[in-house]
Amino acid sequence: MDLSLSPKAYTVLDQVRQFFEQDILPRNREMIRSVKQDGDLDPPFLDQMRAKAKSQGLWNLAQTELADHQPGLPMSNLDYSLIAEFLGRVLWSSKAFNCQWPDVPNMVALQRYANEQQKEKWLQPLLDGECQSAFAMTEPATASSDAKNIAATITRDGDDYIVDGLKWYITGGGHERCRFYLFLGVSNPDAGPNRQHSVILVPRDATGVTVGAANSFFGYSEPNGPASEINFDQVRVPKENLLGEEGEGFAVSQARLAPARLHHSMRAVGQCELLIELMYARALERQAFGRPLVGYDTVQYAIAHSRVETEQMRLLLRKVAAQVDIEGEKSAYRDLSILKVAIAQGYFRIADRAVQVFGAMGGYDGTPVADAFAWSRAFRIGDGPDEVHLRSIFRAEPVPEMVLSTSAYILPPDISR
Ligand SMILES: Cc1cc2nc3c(=O)[nH]c(=O)nc-3n(C[C@H](O)[C@H](O)[C@H](O)COP(=O)(O)OP(=O)(O)OC[C@H]3O[C@@H](n4cnc5c(N)ncnc54)[C@H](O)[C@@H]3O)c2cc1C
Repeated sequence: MDLSLSPKAYTVLDQVRQFFEQDILPRNREMIRSVKQDGDLDPPFLDQMRAKAKSQGLWNLAQTELADHQPGLPMSNLDYSLIAEFLGRVLWSSKAFNCQWPDVPNMVALQRYANEQQKEKWLQPLLDGECQSAFAMTEPATASSDAKNIAATITRDGDDYIVDGLKWYITGGGHERCRFYLFLGVSNPDAGPNRQHSVILVPRDATGVTVGAANSFFGYSEPNGPASEINFDQVRVPKENLLGEEGEGFAVSQARLAPARLHHSMRAVGQCELLIELMYARALERQAFGRPLVGYDTVQYAIAHSRVETEQMRLLLRKVAAQVDIEGEKSAYRDLSILKVAIAQGYFRIADRAVQVFGAMGGYDGTPVADAFAWSRAFRIGDGPDEVHLRSIFRAEPVPEMVLSTSAYILPPDISR
């Protein structure tokens, strides 16, 4: 498989890097203060950044396809991996380029399943960066790692549907810019287990929608968050809001999976690069027992092991990104699961090492190290817990053909001796 990046990828990276150095990094501390101390996820300077990025054509870079009238610069998954990895160093930076989650996976689902009227009403404002959206699947009352358990309901009533159910950990669902939800619920309870659910578009300001408590994860709130509890109490929405056909809820949700898993993995590799640099810089700065921390081989191993794992992760990431570009996501499901497990676990190990090298500062609220620890732990659960992916990977494992029996490979113990 050819993993070479196109010249366009490097040109865009140069432009993004320049933007990052001029506009994003100088405001990083201001942004952290705004989010953590003032609870403001979208300070006014973000709008200015969005306008500037859009005017430079650095917009919607995470879309692989855009129609002529849709704004932005589509990139292949492989090329975008270079950009998203770089932006992963500062997680909120994706917002400046309209590449933030969960909007990007939602846009992909809308591109694929929305009709023309729905695209104009719901997709276009997202592509223009006018608003945000959220994906509402998980429920506190059900084991939501098995989507078949989702129990919220979407019930036809004349020309409307009635939407009902309590959701939580809905990323971005409580953000003031969030205009609507892609809501997953049971519409056809008598159909087969894979055809019972649908996705419907629910405006945030519809009567009966209540945004409740923020759901942070170990105290960390995503930059596009907060993830929130959202109650949908007998919410009436017109039948035109159904996305796809009744019973196609899992297919619509699956359209989100490849971009969600790929892009989180790309940013996670960028986070690992940052953590390696932070570990190294901190170990140069601090002295213990008469020498800089970097002089101790345990610290050197922490950095070196992290380097080994990051190189492995990047290679796997590019291979799966190229595979999705070439073959489409359906034939890459197993590999997307392998990628998700490898990256979530590798990222978590590296974040754990960084916490150790940083000492108490590693758990302090103001460092990206603490955020990475929480976020990498969340990544092992969100978008499918490790175990669910491992189960799929095992199921896709072919029954061994060459080794029909182990005997040809093993010299048995000589029991006569
Ligand atoms: C930071 C964050 C953001 C999130 N954002 C969103 C969002 O935007 N929208 C949304 O709808 N949801 C979101 N989620 C929720 C996330 O998708 C769910 O938490 C996830 O699907 C797991 O569901 P659950 O929490 O109900 O765990 P459960 O289904 O109760 O599973 C608990 C544990 O059981 C084990 N388990 C489950 N199945 C198996 C199996 N087959 N074999 C072995 N062990 C198994 C796993 O260890 C798993 O972690 C988010 C979660 C987090 C942490």
